[in-house]
Amino acid sequence: MKRNKIVAGNWKMNLDFDEAQMLIEDLENLLDDKQPSCEVIICPPFPYLELATDEATEHELFEVGAQNVSAFDSGAYTGEVSAKMLDSIGVSCCIIGHSERRKYFNEDNATLAQKVNQSLKYEIVPIFCVGEVLEEREKGIHFDVIRKQIEEGLFHLEAADLENVIIAYEPVWAIGTGKTATPAQAQEVHAFIRGLIKEKYGEDLADQQHILYGGSCNAKNAAELFAQPDVDGGLIGGASLKAEDFVSICEQASK
Ligand code: PEP
Repeated sequence: MKRNKIVAGNWKMNLDFDEAQMLIEDLENLLDDKQPSCEVIICPPFPYLELATDEATEHELFEVGAQNVSAFDSGAYTGEVSAKMLDSIGVSCCIIGHSERRKYFNEDNATLAQKVNQSLKYEIVPIFCVGEVLEEREKGIHFDVIRKQIEEGLFHLEAADLENVIIAYEPVWAIGTGKTATPAQAQEVHAFIRGLIKEKYGEDLADQQHILYGGSCNAKNAAELFAQPDVDGGLIGGASLKAEDFVSICEQASK
């Protein structure tokens, strides 16, 4: 089965309101001009989500994702943002388990599994991130690390729910470092992840599961990464803040 490609931009904690508005405008102009055929998702910080979903509804050039979601449904959880709230403003996906959240906010696999459940409950597509740190790769235990992240974060799901999850392989040593995984390294891990899904859920689901690559993916290296048979697009950090670069990546995912 031929999977469509997806390119998602993770803006992280960048830009003020005016800058966000300008980036959205630039993206709209370029996307409208280039018309890439891949699915395009932008993930701005919480305060700009409604601006983005309003634009998404009006122009239908991209979908909007959040960068985080609460593990809880509602109530006395000061500072949290629920999946229901995201859904109510038209957010259609959410990054879950980004390595920065695992590292700086101590999010463990059990918490992430709850976040996945909350998202799915409100029909928000989780973009579930996995990946090893440099030390784990150097020790040769990266497959074990990724297996554990996938099993504990996702394998409690029924097939019908997993089908609605996007997985992102993001080697932590490649995030924001300018050091990209080689296409062969990315392909090896993506094929491994697809194999895990096949083992547990069967070939049909494994074949249609989207697995994105993230980690210093940019306009120069995207084509080679996306040409790998198990790489279904990218989760883009730094390069998603520059409209030309991001749209160029989208075009490369559309070939
Ligand atoms: C990310 O934060 O998800 C990411 C891939 O960042 P960068 O592209 O900047 O490495």
